[in-house]
Amino acid sequence: MKLVFATHNNHKLQEILELLNSSTELLSLNDIGYHHDIEETGSNLTENALIKARTIYNHFNYNVFADDTGLEIDALGGDPGVLSARFAGEEKDAQKNMAKVLMLMKDQPNRSARFKTVIALIIEGEEYLFEGVVEGQILHTPSGNMGFGYDPIFKPEGFSCSFAEMDAAQKNKISHRGRAVEKLIAHLISIQ
Ligand code: IMP
Repeated sequence: MKLVFATHNNHKLQEILELLNSSTELLSLNDIGYHHDIEETGSNLTENALIKARTIYNHFNYNVFADDTGLEIDALGGDPGVLSARFAGEEKDAQKNMAKVLMLMKDQPNRSARFKTVIALIIEGEEYLFEGVVEGQILHTPSGNMGFGYDPIFKPEGFSCSFAEMDAAQKNKISHRGRAVEKLIAHLISIQ
């Protein structure tokens, strides 16, 4: 089955390609010639995932899924949450976003946080939602250079290294997106 992943982010596309089997042909937005940014105007992750999936479904009529992820930090009242990409400004700069988190978390003893991913899938007009969560801690300084976004400052529960010190396969096994994608894939298999 042809399935569009409504993203321009090659890191994410690569992560998901490693999880899918060969019966699904995964296409990115670039593959289908959609070069615009879809505005994420929702007030939560679910709304944003649905906005992105519906935009592509309504435009192309392709089966499609879209994801939206947020980092929720308890000591910051759940921030950056739905604003994770642009926490330090519209340029969506990962270094600046991490610096802002570390500054706000300076001297904060409660470091607990979680990444949450919501995937919205549209198959022949039917909508489905899948969620994945990974609990962890915000480190005091960045560590590692793999991955993207907040990976260098997030240490998943049960591990002694950050996400940015894990390779993609290792991260996928336990990550928010990996867990949401597992549910997505189980669903895709069940309807084949
Ligand atoms: P998106 O909804 O997947 O685009 O994620 C929004 C923002 O959350 C991204 O711009 C990153 O800053 C952050 N983010 C999402 N997924 C991850 C991840 O796996 N590791 C680190 N940061 C992430």
